[in-house]
Parts: sequence; structure tokens; C-alpha cells
Amino acid sequence: MKKKIVNIEKNSADFINQDNIHEKEHDKNLWNARVKRDRIAQSIPEWEELKELASKIKEHTLSHLDEYVSTFAENASKRGAVVHWARDAQEHNEIVYNILQERKVTEIIKSKSMLQEECEMTSFLESKGIEVTESDLGERIQQLSHQPPAHIVMPAIEKTTEDIAQLFAKTIGTDPNDTDPHSLNEAMRNNARPKFLRAGAGMTGANFAIAETGTFVVCTNEGNADIGAAVPPLHIASIGIEKIIPKVEDLGIFIRLLSRSALGTPATQYTSHFTGPRKNGELHIIITDNGRSTRLGMEDFWTSLKCIRCGACMNTCPVYRRSGGLSYESTYSGPIGIILSPTFDLEKYKELPYHSTLCGSCSDVCPVKIDISNQIYKWRKLVVDKGYMPSNRKYALKAAGAVLGHPHLFRTTEAFAEKALPIVPDFLIYSSLNPWTQERKMFSMAKNTFRDWYIKNRKEKNDKY
Ligand code: SF4
Repeated sequence: MKKKIVNIEKNSADFINQDNIHEKEHDKNLWNARVKRDRIAQSIPEWEELKELASKIKEHTLSHLDEYVSTFAENASKRGAVVHWARDAQEHNEIVYNILQERKVTEIIKSKSMLQEECEMTSFLESKGIEVTESDLGERIQQLSHQPPAHIVMPAIEKTTEDIAQLFAKTIGTDPNDTDPHSLNEAMRNNARPKFLRAGAGMTGANFAIAETGTFVVCTNEGNADIGAAVPPLHIASIGIEKIIPKVEDLGIFIRLLSRSALGTPATQYTSHFTGPRKNGELHIIITDNGRSTRLGMEDFWTSLKCIRCGACMNTCPVYRRSGGLSYESTYSGPIGIILSPTFDLEKYKELPYHSTLCGSCSDVCPVKIDISNQIYKWRKLVVDKGYMPSNRKYALKAAGAVLGHPHLFRTTEAFAEKALPIVPDFLIYSSLNPWTQERKMFSMAKNTFRDWYIKNRKEKNDKY
């Protein structure tokens, strides 16, 4: 079967051209988050110091990951959790299913976990007859739309309240004209509550896992992870190996950075610590690799594992803000998606590294100092080295390289273009063969080249130009 290659250019065009509302709203809402992030970061004098510390702790942990993961597993087991190990998505999903099947659980509630998204766990469990309900409002909206999250912190950010009113009218029977966020929220609460009470298991992810104590920490703004962990008798947590931090004292640094970077707020409303099962309950932890150890071995890309999934790089990215997250067709979108997705499948995601201006804003805002734009550039190089660059682009760039690398050829081409461009008919310039002019007007050539001007006005005797 032919492999599906993500066509991000077309997907983005579809998002932008759907109407005159969505792209503008998306851009505005994310930019607001970026502005709030800047304001709150600037109010903390030690902000840069915090970032440096966070980056160093993550790099240290990743360099000793085997030790810290084992210590975490040992301490979590001592506190009564059952620890499982999953090499990949398939193993992860089968472990979850086996736990549920042994206990005859047919309904679960879950709080947002990008790792579970990565493993496509919901569709796997649904194919086995298990009903899965998302407890996070944004995630539930995406679930009812049959869509994955469009942003790692704000999953339904691509939707307007009008979209949500229409969706709820179709799926949970509300009034399609009622666009009041409070009443939409209330309607969903009433719809979801019985499912929460019936669920035989609650699933969460983890934002941080502390090796020293075997504790994991989940940050939410709705307290939904706490419902999943507190109501059903069984709690299953999926934890990627990169979530480990060494000590409790390290946690404060990340907590101070996370919510401020994500939404410009001082902290998430709920920062819940789970150490062992609750009384009369069961806790299962699935420590999952799913490609992370391979990434750890990639010299140019291993620091992407430092990511704490705050989404700040997405909020600041001028390309992401306009193209929307779903256009990346990958679990992770925006700048972080560009550097993570190719580690799963370079051929499928080969166009993603070109979906960036390389302006560097993502690297600037990243609270754990990942050199994101540098890694995007390195992925571009790898796309070329692996032979994945489309031939038309490859030959065009080769030709450009040859012209720019030979001054005489450059001058001849320049003189030719100067004469030819004004007489080339519009139907050739504005044709599908020239994607550059699909969104812009063709520039006109200047009357004089810079070189001619320089020779006339600045050139001195011994100046070889
Ligand atoms: S790469 Fe940095 S800015 Fe982007 S989500 Fe991860 S931690 Fe946040």
C-alpha cells in the first residue's frame, strides 16, 4: 500500500480558505496567550535562571535516564502501584486492554494524555468494545467531532463557540442558537457526569514523574484528572520515559514554568500528586518508550525529549497560528511537532520541516531551552540527505545554487530576467507551474541592479567589485 505523505501545504490552505473567521480567531487567541506569557515571564526576575535550571535538570536526567526510570519504577512499586513496561504503542494498548478485561471494565473515563494519543489508544479500545469518554472539555469536543487534539494544551482551539453550539446540538441535543460558553459548559457537564460515575476505570497521563518518591504529577485546569483518579476504583496512568525528573525539589522549577509558558497564568488550577493507589483502589503505571530511546540516541535531536508540552512554541509560531494544528496530521503540531513527528516517520512527515519561517521565536520562548529552529533546519538537511526532497524543488534549488555560486552566470541570468520578465505573458507567470504567484503579485525588476549602482556611486579604485 502506498504510504500517506502529509500534505501540509494543502491542509493549511484548506484551513485558511474555509471562511473569513477561523484563521483570524485562531491567530488572535493564540497570540493573546503569547502576550500573556510574555507579561508574566517578565514579572519574574529569575525567569531566565529558571529556564536554565530546567534545561540542565532535563539534560542531566536524560543522560542518566536508565537509572532514574528504574528508581522511579522501584519507588512507585514500593508505594503499592503495579508497574508495567511498554516498548511501543501496541504493547501499551494491549497492557491497558488486559487490565480492563481482567476486571471486566467496559467503560472508562480519561483525562488528556498526548502519549495515549500517540498510541491511538482510544480507537484501539473502542475496537474492543470499550466505551471511552474524555473528561477534559476541549478534548471531549474533539472526541465528539471525531478529531484529534489540535493543540497540546488547548485541544479545541480551532473551533469557535458557534461551531461548538452546532456540535453539541447534533451530539447532545442542545439548542443550536445557544452560544453562551457557560451554558454549553453546563450542558456538557450534565451529559458527561453519569458516564464519569459509571466508569470502571480512570486513565491519566503525567506531566512529571519523580524518581525519588515514585510519585507522578498531573496538571489540569478543570480537575478532570482528579475525577478519573478518585471516582472509579481503578486508575491507570500512561507515562513516557522522558517525564522523569530526579527529585521533589526539582518539581517547583517546572511547575513555575509550565502554566506561565502555556497560558500566561501563575499555575494550573489543579496540580495533583499521585503516590501509590488510594484506599481500596488499584493503581497501574505503564512506563512507555514508543520511540523515545531511539530519539535519545539521535545526536542532533535528543534534546527534543526535554519538552514539557507547554505549547508556548505553538502559540508564538506565525505559521502554526495561521495554518491550524490539524493540518500537521500528527499527534504533535507546531514547532515541537515539526521536530518530533519525523522521529516517528520521516517520509510521512517530510514536508513538516518546511512549514516554518525559521524565525527562531519558538526557541526563544521554550522554557526548557530546546533549540527548536536549529533542529527544524537539521531536519530539512536530513530530508535532502535521505532523498525525500521532491524532484521539482530539488532541481530548482540546484539551479539556484549554480547561478548564485557563479558570479558571471548570475549576471547573465539577471540581465536576461530584466529583459524577459516584462514580456512574459501573464498566463505563464500566473500558472499552476509557478506556486510563488498563487498568493502574490509578481515583482517587477528594478531599473538598475545594485551592482550597477555600486559601481557608479561607491566603487573605489582598488575595489574589485
Ligand atoms: S518545545 Fe518547548 S515551548 Fe514547545 S511545547 Fe515543548 S517545552 Fe513548550
